[in-house]
Amino acid sequence: MPQTTVPTTSTTSEHAENIARIRDALLSRQRILISSHARPDGDSIGSQLAMAYALKALGKDVTIVNKDAAPPPLMAFPGVPTILVAERAEGEYDAAVVLECSDLTRTGVEGLDRYFLINIDHHPGNAGFGALNWFNGDAAACAEMVFDIIEALDAPLTVEIATHVYVGILTDTGSFHYSSITPRTFDICRRLVEAGVDPPKVARSIFDSNSLGRLKLFGAVLSSIELEDGGRLAVVRVDRAMAASAGGNYEDTEGLINLPLTVREIQAVVFFKEIDAREFRVSMRSKGDIDVCAVAKHFGGGGHKNASGCTVRGAYPEVRARLLRDLVEAIQRGRAVGQGA
Ligand code: 5GP
Ligand code: MN
Repeated sequence: MPQTTVPTTSTTSEHAENIARIRDALLSRQRILISSHARPDGDSIGSQLAMAYALKALGKDVTIVNKDAAPPPLMAFPGVPTILVAERAEGEYDAAVVLECSDLTRTGVEGLDRYFLINIDHHPGNAGFGALNWFNGDAAACAEMVFDIIEALDAPLTVEIATHVYVGILTDTGSFHYSSITPRTFDICRRLVEAGVDPPKVARSIFDSNSLGRLKLFGAVLSSIELEDGGRLAVVRVDRAMAASAGGNYEDTEGLINLPLTVREIQAVVFFKEIDAREFRVSMRSKGDIDVCAVAKHFGGGGHKNASGCTVRGAYPEVRARLLRDLVEAIQRGRAVGQGA
């Protein structure tokens, strides 16, 4: 597969050319595989299913394969149970569409490189691993890009398709909190609501679907919150013992990281989830100009300015200290930008 560096910014006509190339490639192919990143989020699942429904409406054979299952709050949405969970892509396909992945290894699915790869992504630093690559760092969600493709394909904007695009946008903007939002985000959302999306119903389905165990686990984790950098930085941590004693499932911490940011003074949050005594999943969120993506990249991860993650090896005190050093710097830089603006 050709390895090119995808430009970080593109002109409107470059975007239009990429969309047209992807449209033509999809229209001329029949059997299409769609994959996204491991531990898929709302944008992965929403983008994949919107694309799948649109291609099916055009008579294509479509299969979605992900390394991990969709998060439980998304299970209620149409088509989610049809997603295959596998570590390897099997079978014959005329193209594989990879959504939301800055490089192919992010899928965690082996064997994708055998296919004609179409790479559609909005994460800065996309490696351009596809035969066709479309990167749009200005898209608040990959689902916005999928919306553009669906339009170019002239596929019908059914309520299922519109709902999946909306799920992608709603979740990837942190419920319309992040600085990635543009006028176009609302333009697309207007079209989605016109197509029949019911925003309060989608929001209830995603955000008001807690189990009591999950709520208690949130309580346990949040009551051990630590504040650093004069109260600007919140540090939260979960391990399996904490999850078990609260009666929650270990996966139940999805979404917890967003809560500390509801405190006015807190500008950034880091969440450490223990994989084992020497390995941690690190999630970070921030407000405004504080760039946690730069921090995640320093540790081999990635994401967006206000929402990023990485996996870091080492004992907890050492991992915590390393992350905090970078985060305090990122907060300082962000505050400097904010004051200059
Ligand atoms: P989360 O904290 O919800 O796991 O991830 C937030 C954002 O950071 C998502 O856009 C996700 O794709 C990205 N992200 C999380 N972990 C990693 C990682 O290990 N590598 C890269 N490249 N991106 C990540
Ligand atoms: Mn996304």
